[in-house]
Amino acid sequence: MPNRVIAVDGPAASGKSTVARKLAAQLNYRYVDSGALYRVIAWKTLENSRDTAQPAEVLETLRTMRVEFFEAEGAVRYRVDGYEPRAEIRTERVSGAVSSVAAIPEVRAAVTQWLRDMVRFGNLVMEGRDIGTVVFPGADQKFYLDASPEERARRRHAELKPTGEAADVGRVMSSLQTRDQKDSGRSTAPLCIAADAQVVDTTGLTIDQVVAVIAQRAGG
Ligand code: C5P
Repeated sequence: MPNRVIAVDGPAASGKSTVARKLAAQLNYRYVDSGALYRVIAWKTLENSRDTAQPAEVLETLRTMRVEFFEAEGAVRYRVDGYEPRAEIRTERVSGAVSSVAAIPEVRAAVTQWLRDMVRFGNLVMEGRDIGTVVFPGADQKFYLDASPEERARRRHAELKPTGEAADVGRVMSSLQTRDQKDSGRSTAPLCIAADAQVVDTTGLTIDQVVAVIAQRAGG
């Protein structure tokens, strides 16, 4: 039987990362954070002192970086030129640059192929923006998580606080909205709800409540 894929899509700070990670652990599937790959390309471009707003400079970075995939702690993870960036790809600088990088069709084609190849690791819970629509249109289960803009800003603000990068909630909300608009408005694989996705509004729900709803629907 081919490996199974559960797609978890949604906008930034909709709770999908935490939910997808817990769901994967509960079902004993591998967790995949697809956004981390776009972040890695943005981060590496900045590391090379190149301009992320210039597609040619991003594509040169993509051509010259060596990406390897491995499994650790229930997730498929990545190394770039032998190094695994973690906190570096979560900075506001990378968050501010990533949507333009992710809008480049050649970048999307490369990342989509990497993501499809990951089924070799086993059954997957993959989170992102276009997993159920483009990467795995035939996914076994598709979920689309959303939450109100206020709730999403509050969650992201709480996440940023320990890193010392938290601005006020209003600024966090406006940076999320800018990213959502870019992600929904791009011409290649924009953020949208797959026709056959189950939409879950996570506003006011705890992570465990969302995981319980999804696990039940996913047959776990
Ligand atoms: O999920 P995360 O917020 O880390 O994703 C970072 C960025 O990567 C998103 O804002 C979006 O531009 C891009 N992305 C994407 N398609 C995906 C996952 C992420 O375009 N499947």
